[in-house]
Amino acid sequence: MTPSSPAPVVASEIERAIRNVPDFPQPGIQFKDITPVLADARLFAGSIDLLTRGFQPGDVDMVVGIDARGLIFAAGAALKLNAGFVPVRKKGKLPYRTHEQNYALEYGTNTIAIHVDAIQPGARVLLIDDLLATGGTAAASAALVKKLGGQILAITFLIELSFLDGRQKLKDYPVHSVVVY
Ligand code: AMP
Repeated sequence: MTPSSPAPVVASEIERAIRNVPDFPQPGIQFKDITPVLADARLFAGSIDLLTRGFQPGDVDMVVGIDARGLIFAAGAALKLNAGFVPVRKKGKLPYRTHEQNYALEYGTNTIAIHVDAIQPGARVLLIDDLLATGGTAAASAALVKKLGGQILAITFLIELSFLDGRQKLKDYPVHSVVVY
């Protein structure tokens, strides 16, 4: 590090920037708003550094991001790692042929999708989302990557709500989170 380069961002700085919004989008949910992290150039870049910690350019073929906020971080991570970027999106958003995966919500189900040709068999994949809650979204996304033959090196989150124990749905993969509540 040269004397003029800024100090690396640490997780506590990101934690301080995350805005808690009570009762959004429904009563009882405390929404973790990451837009203040994105709005700060140093914290945004630092969040990408922390989400990709341990990986160098050449280690990863594809970074897969999960709709919606995961796409922002995954795109930055792909650029940093000189990897391709792949979106996992909510059903109906991707234009070409897709594979779909259902997963359970507290009430009802949700469906996410990936393009059928998004990942080559054997590709080394880093999967990224903004937040791990119950783990259903990430587990379904991982299932889509595996269906295409991708090899998941790790799943990383900016935020983990550890009291919801989402990790137990992701036991097959290394899971890293930057800020844990
Ligand atoms: P889950 O499938 O329960 O792990 O939920 C994770 C997905 O829902 C992520 O894509 C998050 O963006 C979103 N999410 C769940 N809970 C919250 C929360 N409290 N604040 C912000 N986003 C959330």
